[in-house]
Amino acid sequence: MQNLLDFDAEGLTAWFAAQGEKPFRARQVLRWMHHFGQSDFDAMTDIAKSLREKLKANAVVLPPAIVSDKLSDDGTRKFLFDVGNGNAVETVFIPEDDRGTLCISTQAGCALDCAFCSTGKQGFNRNLAVSEIIGQLWQANRALGVDPRNPEKAERIISNVVLMGMGEPLANFEAAVAALKLMLDDNAYGLSRRRVTVSTSGLVPAMDRLRDECPVALAVSLHAPNDKLRDDLVPINQKYPIAELMAACQRYLEKAPRDFVTFEYVMLDGVNDSDVHARELLAITRDVPCKFNLIPFNPFPGSPFRRSKAERIRRFADILIQAGVVTTTRKTRGDDIDAACGQLAGQVQDKTKRSERRTIPLQEMRP
Ligand code: SAH
Ligand code: SF4
Repeated sequence: MQNLLDFDAEGLTAWFAAQGEKPFRARQVLRWMHHFGQSDFDAMTDIAKSLREKLKANAVVLPPAIVSDKLSDDGTRKFLFDVGNGNAVETVFIPEDDRGTLCISTQAGCALDCAFCSTGKQGFNRNLAVSEIIGQLWQANRALGVDPRNPEKAERIISNVVLMGMGEPLANFEAAVAALKLMLDDNAYGLSRRRVTVSTSGLVPAMDRLRDECPVALAVSLHAPNDKLRDDLVPINQKYPIAELMAACQRYLEKAPRDFVTFEYVMLDGVNDSDVHARELLAITRDVPCKFNLIPFNPFPGSPFRRSKAERIRRFADILIQAGVVTTTRKTRGDDIDAACGQLAGQVQDKTKRSERRTIPLQEMRP
């Protein structure tokens, strides 16, 4: 049985062609599945009965199942999805006055092992399939009460998608890009490139590929203003140091839908939050049109770090702002249900022994 949620438009058209079916049929089915959230072929009323029978015999529309659904006091909602073999991933919906953002996972765990990240500490099991990535959006739409007959209203509920949940999206390049293409496709979710963001810890070659294959808004997890500190906090920096990362950001902006890169910077008390660090940051990012998003560290059990004090974060932001760089501080949302940035843990059957993880050949993570 073929899961049709594993295809983007191009893949679905090819699969239909192999069944002897015309491209416009693929488009119709794509629209039913994603635009209207339909998984029952019999409900696809404008599809000929013979084709419906053929689809029923050969295909399914199967998103991952929601195994838990928690609502925070602040309206943030966290879904846990079963992705099989004891693995589960998390998706977070963050409602705001002017938009609703869905934060999606791309891997069961993460192999990159950033020092301050709960997902990293869980280890890594595997890449998610396209159906498991886009299936999070498919299911969230449904759970949030999106009326399939009123898709315009749906777009107002989930107006933005960020690949910022569990995992490194660019280490699961093919599947992440297929899911991104569905998000942008007018027959699927119809989101504009500016409203879809990929967050990466800095896989330089994959950033170039994303620019060429599917440029969406880009967020880069910087977290340190020099290689010495970044090597420790974000170990992938040992492979792609800051100068190479900044050059990749500049190249990305040639095709990006927004004219800036967002640098994410987690505020760790006494580690990366001094005035000197702020000035160093301004120096290394001088040639990259950018905004800063400061993220107060969200603690998780067993983590050695503390969140910078509010006053320290304010002072750090002021230095950036006074230098003319737009800087926002992320509001912590959903921490009462462990849904805040960096707290997503899901359930990961770690395949990489923690102690050996830093020695995984980095080539394996490159697309
Ligand atoms: N792997 C990608 C996307 C997922 S992580 C990346 O690293 O960009 C999403 C964001 O949450 C990243 O900026 C990450 O550095 C940040 N983050 C991780 N752990 C955190 C924590 N404990 N508190 C606050 N932010 C955290
Ligand atoms: Fe992976 Fe991102 Fe967490 Fe680093 S911060 S371990 S890249 S999910």
